[in-house]
Amino acid sequence: MTQTPTPISAATGVLLVAPLSGSILPIEQVPDPVFAEKMVGDGISIDPVSQVLVAPCDGEIVQMHPSQHAVTLQTAEGIEILMHIGLDTVTLRGKGFTPKVVVGDRVKLGDPLIEFDADYVALHAVSLLTQIVIVNSDQVARFVPKAGQVLAGQDLVLELLLSKAGTTDTSAISSLPVVTSNAIPVPNPVGLHARPAAVLANLAKQYQADVRLKKEDKSVNAKSVTALMGLQVGFKDVVSLVAQGPDAEAAITALSEAIANGLGEEGATPMVSTAEPKPVPQPVTRPRSDDPNTILGVAASPGVAVGYLHQVRQQEIEVAERGGTSDEESRKLEQAIAQAQQEIAALQAKMQAGEDAKQADIFAAHQEILTDPDMQDTTAEAIIRGQSAAYAWKQAYTTQANRLAQLKNDLLAQRANDLRDVGRRVLRILTGATTEAIAYPDQTILAAEDLTPSDMATLDRSKVVGFCTIAGGATSHVAILARSMDIPAIAGGEERLLEVANGTPVVLDGTRGQLRLNPSADEMERTRQRQARIAERRQADLAAKDQPAITTDGHRMEVVANIGSLADAEKSVALGGEGVGLLRTEFVFMERAMAPSEEEQADIYSSIARALGDRPLIIRTLDVGGDKPLPYLPMPHEENPFLGDRGIRLCFSRPDLMRTQFRAILRASSHGNVRIMFPMIARLEELRQAKQVLEEERQALGVAPIEVGIMIEVPSAALMADRLASEVDFFSIGTNDLTQYTLAMDRGHPKLAAQIDALDPAVLRLVDLTVKGATQHGKWVGICGGMGSDPQAVPILVGLGIQELSVSIPTIPSIKAQVRGLGLAECQALAAQALAADTAVTVRQLVPLPEE
Ligand code: PEP
Ligand code: MG
Repeated sequence: MTQTPTPISAATGVLLVAPLSGSILPIEQVPDPVFAEKMVGDGISIDPVSQVLVAPCDGEIVQMHPSQHAVTLQTAEGIEILMHIGLDTVTLRGKGFTPKVVVGDRVKLGDPLIEFDADYVALHAVSLLTQIVIVNSDQVARFVPKAGQVLAGQDLVLELLLSKAGTTDTSAISSLPVVTSNAIPVPNPVGLHARPAAVLANLAKQYQADVRLKKEDKSVNAKSVTALMGLQVGFKDVVSLVAQGPDAEAAITALSEAIANGLGEEGATPMVSTAEPKPVPQPVTRPRSDDPNTILGVAASPGVAVGYLHQVRQQEIEVAERGGTSDEESRKLEQAIAQAQQEIAALQAKMQAGEDAKQADIFAAHQEILTDPDMQDTTAEAIIRGQSAAYAWKQAYTTQANRLAQLKNDLLAQRANDLRDVGRRVLRILTGATTEAIAYPDQTILAAEDLTPSDMATLDRSKVVGFCTIAGGATSHVAILARSMDIPAIAGGEERLLEVANGTPVVLDGTRGQLRLNPSADEMERTRQRQARIAERRQADLAAKDQPAITTDGHRMEVVANIGSLADAEKSVALGGEGVGLLRTEFVFMERAMAPSEEEQADIYSSIARALGDRPLIIRTLDVGGDKPLPYLPMPHEENPFLGDRGIRLCFSRPDLMRTQFRAILRASSHGNVRIMFPMIARLEELRQAKQVLEEERQALGVAPIEVGIMIEVPSAALMADRLASEVDFFSIGTNDLTQYTLAMDRGHPKLAAQIDALDPAVLRLVDLTVKGATQHGKWVGICGGMGSDPQAVPILVGLGIQELSVSIPTIPSIKAQVRGLGLAECQALAAQALAADTAVTVRQLVPLPEE
């Protein structure tokens, strides 16, 4: 026990009893600088063995973090004690924690505050170490921490001798001008939780000025960690700073910059400050047609349809702000969510019974949204404040959906529609609003602002033959569903679509993203004929799916699949796939709280290998980083993530992940024809290093060598292909990234989408160089980027000497059939012309789309 010079008593200070049983750790030894460097405040840490955090003294609850992993208690003397269970537990978003108190509760020493599931938290967070810190440490003259084992509610852990409260003379400050910052969007993925709040408070304390952080109409003292946390600033919330004092200007400049840069938190990507957010952002460049009878949009699902337009308008569900008691409203919400769960489960089952399991996955994601802790917290808090369940829920989901819709990441922005879909379902149940079942006439083509996955799941396929929406894009769940249901569709259409009268005859071309209004009888007839031809050709391609892709002059092209799961592997084989040219293993790592174990990975890879029999399986090692984050892999902010720590580079900095995966792949190799492929190789040294690690693991496991290939997706690799080829067994060209890096155009940039074309002669020249480099050493080259599935690229790739096309699963039969109709000599002549062309447009003109 630590000896104290003058004993501290309850009369001179505050005595804190252990809030948890366990062993005390000095705060300086906590493996998190925010606590170890006392940025939040001085205190102790406990390595707990109990699972209920209890009050260390009498006081009032002044703050409960929305993620329920941290609580602040204020004593009668004004001392604020923050108890923070675990490290990085904010990312668990409340899972594993059950609060026993709410803000405003008065508690006695030993009263339970938060119960937690230690097993869950230990497994899913960095550490269970629980910090007990005094956030207003300036009011404490001396800290006397204890040591050793303690029992919750019984043993002392910390004695605090209070300083004599000093009063700050604020009169001088209040006469100085007030300085205000610009709006700052908060980039921290989980908002201003304890860590960034502590950093901000410490920075603010360096200034004499009075500094306040403002969110909407609330503002708090920026020098108080608790107050900052109490403001509940979430990801992308827009805040501002207000300062008054001699150094106010300097404080505003420094603190604004610090907030905008994520307050030193990993994974917080600075955002460009935006003006007032609009609920649905429009693509920067939407296609526009000058012809009043043509509406342009994004090709969301291929095929053509002829029919009559029918407008679908979603009715606003009105809700009253006030309802019954908060208990009654909470119960209503619980029941509505339970009913929504059942409804979605029924849709899921319906989809599972269909052909494509991916459709069912979309509804599995809807179940997740339903139980999203953030949305539930926000709703629960609003109900406690007196709002009705319906009003609170509507506010919560619309705010979240609008926030998602703002995101730069197109894929995430598209998920706003899923959120609204789930949100409306619950709202409908809560308000008893009915959805009228519309009896559509034959050959209906729907026009809508937006459709939801639920609309899609309940669509009467015998009547609805296509649809066109204003919102969405090719990556929306609605577009994915349309493709798998084989319904031609256009997304991102021109606004005037909504003004077209019901019953207007239309021709919808989902392949070209074009809707023709009032076509002539002749045009409709021609389209019907085209439809019949497409259907016939698809049938013929499907019937011949198991025939090899051999050109008319005997040159064989291997047609394999790009996959992400066992289900994909099975489907590809069923469609005539001759193996797998790219297993994107990042899908095995995504959407989970921690990395898959060696055992789990070996099981997945082995089962895929077995499903393929003796067909080849190319397993690409983990390709994350850059734009593909993993929740359990902290990635520091990078100015240029596509040029940063991604792909194989990231694996080198996480050898544990890399070696585990290599072992799993090597173990799976005894179950089939397994090859390994490294992504993002830019330099020979990287290939050598990766091979060395692989060889070490192989020898340790004592298994036979496997073939090693690399992705050619960085221009330097294509330029060095002749050197790289002598050290690999094969190349596979990732044209998605190769095009991005060659043309210096972000592959997901909506504004550049029309210009970033893999058929650009610059990219084709790099493909040519790669093949020539490989040929010098007798190695083969495949294509696994999107270019391989592009029918206009196929003849050029045959001509350039590509030997394997790894394509998207549904295109396997048609690509095989296309190759069977080509002659190598003509393709070689075409490739030579393409290499000599000036632009991608010229290249495309050389190869008309296959006749439909
Ligand atoms: C590519 O870059 O072309 C590729 C196939 O890899 P990914 O799309 O997974 O980056
Ligand atoms: Mg790539």
